[in-house]
Amino acid sequence: MTPPTPHPGSRLWIRNPLAAFSANSLDASGGVVVCGGRITEVLGAGEQPSAPCEETFDAGGHVLLPGLINTHHHFYQTLTRAWGPVANAPLFPWLQNLYPVWARLTPRDLELAATVALAELLLSGCTTAADHHYLFPAGMEGAIDIEVAAVRRLGMRATLTRGSMSLGQNDGGLPPQTTVQAPDVILADSERLIGKYHERGDGAVIQIALAPCSPFSVTKEVMADSALMAERLDVRLHTHLAETLDEEEFCREMFGLRTVDYLDSVGWLTARTWLGHGIHFSDAEIARLGAAGTAVAHCPTSNMRLASGTARVLELEDAGVPVGLGVDGSASNDASNMILEARQALYVQRLRYGAQVPVERALGWATRGSAAVLGRSDLGQLAPGMQADLALFRLDELRFSGSHDPVAALLLCAADRADRVMVGGQWRVVDGQIPGLDIAGLIAEHSAAARRLVNG
Ligand SMILES: [Zn+2]
Repeated sequence: MTPPTPHPGSRLWIRNPLAAFSANSLDASGGVVVCGGRITEVLGAGEQPSAPCEETFDAGGHVLLPGLINTHHHFYQTLTRAWGPVANAPLFPWLQNLYPVWARLTPRDLELAATVALAELLLSGCTTAADHHYLFPAGMEGAIDIEVAAVRRLGMRATLTRGSMSLGQNDGGLPPQTTVQAPDVILADSERLIGKYHERGDGAVIQIALAPCSPFSVTKEVMADSALMAERLDVRLHTHLAETLDEEEFCREMFGLRTVDYLDSVGWLTARTWLGHGIHFSDAEIARLGAAGTAVAHCPTSNMRLASGTARVLELEDAGVPVGLGVDGSASNDASNMILEARQALYVQRLRYGAQVPVERALGWATRGSAAVLGRSDLGQLAPGMQADLALFRLDELRFSGSHDPVAALLLCAADRADRVMVGGQWRVVDGQIPGLDIAGLIAEHSAAARRLVNG
């Protein structure tokens, strides 16, 4: 892949966008200056760069946003999208039907699935993606290594989580025994991946986090040991929590605890943790999560698809909980589209709190909020010093015709595809395409793999 790219060290002015959303109080209507992979200047209306720029990109037809950040996904599930047997099922039967299919996953399947998910995200304006991969059947020991390679090929950033399942059906868990691993195997591989891939500091491309799957598929020991390792090696923790009432019931029966008490009991109620979904919390639990700084990945489409419930996002944020957005896995969304997910979040939260929830607040969850969820202070805003991760959308499609406020139009008219996307100062989407990626070939091979997987 050889996308056109600014010369390193040269200054690029992305000039006078049609409109800009900075995710902070800065006026970016004059555009941004990019140099050395970072944003070096944010310009207000009519302002000029402080020094001449070698290159200029005229953004007069584009709405400029910080690159969108996805905080919860399961890339491999692109192989089981819209699968008939679970098209109309809630979480537990949905999982029980899918586990045996997923157990047949091969390394090549995952490579294709991750590439599809990442490409889809990138084309929707996403520059940083989190993935939660917890399936390691025999032969899949290198799953996270495969994902690292896919992220690097597309030139994105990712927080890849080493997921795990250790509580099989024989011990009262939900997943079949063939899909669970021994605790020592999980912990040894987690440490290997952190040592091999985890980057620290501004501009990190790959980060690793530890992610035991859920209360009903992991033992308390693996939860507690993962928290200790995360503390020792300074990485983040991720899991599913409070997604459904079934899960709440499971925790009460299995552990004698509500979900947040369970989280606390295994050492996870900290600012190191982000939770997928986070729907079924009491007022007191929301206050505890806020006091701890535990973050939530809000996944509105998945929550509607599986009828799991509605996260109390405004109350969570008001309590101090960092909130970002996740498309969730593609067997429960079934799209990997971040700008559409921001639209879903806006509308779900309006249903709960009223039509005064602003468009900008939803865009804030998809950018600055998601960056905080992943523990990234260098992403998610247009501000000097931030990484030059940008998404630019054109409004020249039929769906935008007659629209007035360009930023509002992105969500209200259902923008679904970015025209230009930049990651670390490099263009990764140009004219709505990923340079060098054969999308038709990818779809053909991925679709064949998907049919093979479900047919056994
Ligand atoms: Zn999930």
